[in-house]
Amino acid sequence: MNPPYCGRFAPSPTGPLHFGSLVAAVASYADARHHGGRWLLRIEDLDTPRSVPGASEDIRATLAACGMHADGEIIAQSARSEVYAAALAQLRASGLAYACACSRREIADSALRGIEGAVYPGTCRTGIGDRPARAWRVNTHGVQIAFEDAVQGRVVQDLERDIGDFVLYRADHIHAYQLAVVVDDAAQGITDVVRGADLLDSTPRQIYLQQRLKLPTPRYLHVPVAVNAAGEKLSKQTQAPAIDRAQTLPALTAALQRLGQQPPAAGSIEELWAWVIPHWRRENIPRQRALPMTTA
Ligand code: GLU
Repeated sequence: MNPPYCGRFAPSPTGPLHFGSLVAAVASYADARHHGGRWLLRIEDLDTPRSVPGASEDIRATLAACGMHADGEIIAQSARSEVYAAALAQLRASGLAYACACSRREIADSALRGIEGAVYPGTCRTGIGDRPARAWRVNTHGVQIAFEDAVQGRVVQDLERDIGDFVLYRADHIHAYQLAVVVDDAAQGITDVVRGADLLDSTPRQIYLQQRLKLPTPRYLHVPVAVNAAGEKLSKQTQAPAIDRAQTLPALTAALQRLGQQPPAAGSIEELWAWVIPHWRRENIPRQRALPMTTA
């Protein structure tokens, strides 16, 4: 029998919750509750240089003001490096992960281009001689991954050609997002990953690691990301304004509308969720990776 639905929201605490991340939070929460599932929260604060003090508490307060309350323990990636190290050790032991001595410069000079820019040509696959190891990468030779996204449809990648041997452990001594997310989704028993389509192209990398670490692969649903007029994802870098905790009802309503749902005017957050949970329709979510904001 399939395990019962368990979803999650996994924000990076690089600033307060803004409209772009609210859309992902709302989609994951509504889909989980509509399916009678659990909804967990995980703070992705692995990238300590980018983490902002207080942002995690701020995001949690905004989610609570929006009536989105997480089940179970809230985990933070910064406390879990030993678990990621064990997963990396497993990939090293199976000969799949290798040390890489190349500098950022050498990699950027690669003539190979994939869907995210420079593709690492696998220079260190055969060893690094006496050069010091900077990072750890995973060998993607001959790996094809295909999956069916509930909104975006079928995604097929030739990992070696489209992405290249990607980093598992960074030169700045931080486990890479791709490794941590896979370990944590499995540890939290996540059955359904609902998130922004900016991560659609990361999913084949994650499925590859799940397969090699013998972890289950969740179902995936990627919602369109909110972009500005220049086509840039709303983020702290593009100065997206924080969600005002005194104005959550209009923000939630706008987020739901972007997800193709048509909530009636509600007098309170409770009333809004009481309508949304039974009426949530995955099939109404626009089948696009990006959706521009119509108002400034
Ligand atoms: N922490 C990532 C972000 O905020 C999301 C990761 C995920 O949902 O897998 O973009």
